[in-house]
Amino acid sequence: LISLSGRRALITGAASGIGRATALRFAEAGADLELVDVDEFGLKATGELAGEFGVEVNVHRVDLSRKVEIDALWEALKGREPDILVNNAGVYWFRDFEEVDEGFYERVMAINLHSVFWMCQHFVRTRKERGGVIINVSSIEAFLPFARGLAHYDTAKLGVVALTRAIAREYGKRIRANVIVPGGIETEGVKKLKKEAIMKFDMEKIGISFHFNARLPMGRFGEPDEVARVILFLASDLASYVNGAVIPVDGGFLST
Ligand code: NAD
Repeated sequence: LISLSGRRALITGAASGIGRATALRFAEAGADLELVDVDEFGLKATGELAGEFGVEVNVHRVDLSRKVEIDALWEALKGREPDILVNNAGVYWFRDFEEVDEGFYERVMAINLHSVFWMCQHFVRTRKERGGVIINVSSIEAFLPFARGLAHYDTAKLGVVALTRAIAREYGKRIRANVIVPGGIETEGVKKLKKEAIMKFDMEKIGISFHFNARLPMGRFGEPDEVARVILFLASDLASYVNGAVIPVDGGFLST
């Protein structure tokens, strides 16, 4: 139903979770792909799966916390700049607010916010005449902090919202920019977190205890593909008048 044929999409964090699901949905819709992640192994696996849809797939091992690597990526993309950008890579590392040191803070901000800023800047420079679409991934945590130990994450994720809306306003004539706000999504990252938290018996400590599940109107976590399908819609021409929007894909979590 939704076609991205003739389009080229860059997706970050494509080795896993929401990023991988998005890559597969985009490939199915006919988009050529530039997949970015620091995890080379997972990236290769996503690339192979996406390639089965017969689209062109290029993979790039990039540590997005390093601007030099981001600049080198866009240098490599010269002549085939994407017209869709999905900034999805992110880390949800828990640390008590009082334990956050400069190195940790800088790294989280570099991955979750600064990289999104620089990626958008490169994208806008190359697409402001020809047009394009940006989809940035924030989190319900930015709007309703429910877990202890994510102040740094929340700060970055609300920054992503401000950045996206600024771009939507400034470049709206040619570029649509929107924010996805996932709720609890059962990705590899979240599964690992749950497992570790349960093993360490500190589910209560990080605050994701029973009240989180009780707040879920749909009574379950989401699947990565349920987020990917909304990203696909936003990337497509079906969303041609959607710009600067902040769209929860959270099963109703924020509305309860
Ligand atoms: P995930 O951990 O499954 O995947 C994230 C990917 O980002 C990984 O492949 C990882 O290697 C990559 N990445 C991390 N640091 C990187 C770096 N420095 N350079 C390049 N790549 C890097 O995560 P997910 O659960 O699919 O989450 C995807 C996005 O959605 C994240 O931005 C996350 O904050 C956001 N989010 C997730 C949930 C959830 O419940 N899963 C909820 C709200 C928001």
